[in-house]
Amino acid sequence: MAVPARRTSKTAKRKRRTHFKLSVPGMVSCPNCGEMKLTHHVCKACGTYKGKDVVND
Ligand SMILES: [Zn+2]
Repeated sequence: MAVPARRTSKTAKRKRRTHFKLSVPGMVSCPNCGEMKLTHHVCKACGTYKGKDVVND
């Protein structure tokens, strides 16, 4: 059933919207430098993959 907008308090509305979080799929923080990176990709910030420096070899 539709509920009039004024019947939902500001607090209830804001609490519901805490779940409306944008998430970027496949983004993790690099274990080496902490920068956000794509999973299964070389870190662009420090050039490591799986704990090894693969760019500056
Ligand atoms: Zn990194």
